[in-house]
Amino acid sequence: MSAVLALMLISLDATELPAAAATSPETVAAQLRDAAMAGHTTAWSWVSELTTRFGPRPAGSANEQQAAAWAAARLKALGFENVHIESFPITAWVRGSESAQLIAPSVQPLVIAALGESPPTPSSGLEGDVVIFPTLTDLKAAPPASLHGKIAMVSQRMVRAQDGAGYGAAVPARTDGPKEAAERGAIAFLLRSVGTDSHRLAHTGTTRYVDGRVPVPAFALSSPDADQIERSAALGQTVRVRLFSTASYVPNAHSQNVIAEVRGRERPQEVVLLGAHLDSWDQGTGAIDDGAGTAIVTAAGKLIRDLPRRPRRTVRVVLFGAEEVAQPTPPGGTFGGHSYATNHQAELAQHVLAGESDLGTDRIYSFALPVATAPGEFAKTVLRILTPIGVLASEHPPEDVGADVGPVVEAGVPALQLTQDAMHYFDIHHTADDTLDKVDRAQLDQNVAAWAALVWLAADSDVDFRPRARSGAANTAAKP
Ligand SMILES: [Zn+2]
Repeated sequence: MSAVLALMLISLDATELPAAAATSPETVAAQLRDAAMAGHTTAWSWVSELTTRFGPRPAGSANEQQAAAWAAARLKALGFENVHIESFPITAWVRGSESAQLIAPSVQPLVIAALGESPPTPSSGLEGDVVIFPTLTDLKAAPPASLHGKIAMVSQRMVRAQDGAGYGAAVPARTDGPKEAAERGAIAFLLRSVGTDSHRLAHTGTTRYVDGRVPVPAFALSSPDADQIERSAALGQTVRVRLFSTASYVPNAHSQNVIAEVRGRERPQEVVLLGAHLDSWDQGTGAIDDGAGTAIVTAAGKLIRDLPRRPRRTVRVVLFGAEEVAQPTPPGGTFGGHSYATNHQAELAQHVLAGESDLGTDRIYSFALPVATAPGEFAKTVLRILTPIGVLASEHPPEDVGADVGPVVEAGVPALQLTQDAMHYFDIHHTADDTLDKVDRAQLDQNVAAWAALVWLAADSDVDFRPRARSGAANTAAKP
């Protein structure tokens, strides 16, 4: 479709275009796709303005709160309905200042970043000999008290993979390492950054509270610094490190989810949920994680909002808060996602599908639908619409759909997945380099195209995405 035609599609309403009512959902999906691919989306201006106005948006910070207020105002101005903010209490974490040096065998600077929720060091810093473990499993195999007064370090490398699978494999060392180190008497924990780059930048990320506290100061090293420590140790020399951090906690902070809708014309109580998160880590400006995701889902919703005819079901955009941080008290994990699932518990049976955009801005290359619909006519239509923009059907059902929609998916809402190319995402993720210049505008719009077309098809259908009970067996089969 030409750009002119795409603009016409977006600007005409039902009264001006009586024939539009007869346009098939598949034709409309193709028009949405083509309009987005031609660049007629709000995605770039959204992520540009969000990251420029507010910069980093740590959970519970004034920046995150102001970004949420801005997003709500912007969503109203774009024509979304039922726009509102739902706040929830959190314990915020503030990085403060930090530094690290190799003390022995010679004095050298180290590039580090405290892990999220890490406690500070004593005000004079702390020093210890480093004991290196190739993996978290090796650390767990160390005897009790064997690390007394030492600094434990896990040097495992994250594997680069198109679907980002290396991240899930590497993250347990970050979340559980401080606890395992402390249980063996260590005074601090070091981790080779969970990332795929060789830059001298450390990748932060959340760790885990144990009984309401992170037990020891914990830091990520840039990968070249982890290499340097490993080589020093391999020379047979004692490696001694000095660490300093003034990190602190804000117990009575709050974060918030921003919610907006395109109300359905026939069954507005049925919801297709589309999520991303507004908070970010504090070192960059959260452009690829996850300003871009908020831009993609908002732009997809806006394209659907501007159609001459509403979808049958409601499209709900949720911009979650506090995705990046753990919490000291249950339920822990991703706080915005839990808050949404709790607040909207009574509606979840009417949530027909949920998906999330939180893997950067590189192009989408596959889609996955719930098992119940994966082989059917709906999936064939999706494949016809998305193949022209390079998106194929995944051979696997949706899995690890995302931290924000995780709680509603756990509660039984069927999941939708559009998988992005993550080959380069973890070069930047959770570093000071997560800035707007890393966002490729054409790939951003390809994401919008896929989300808009697929969400429209689901929202304008009456397809039941929930698992079907097997006839006869559903109520009688005894669970082992
Ligand atoms: Zn994210």
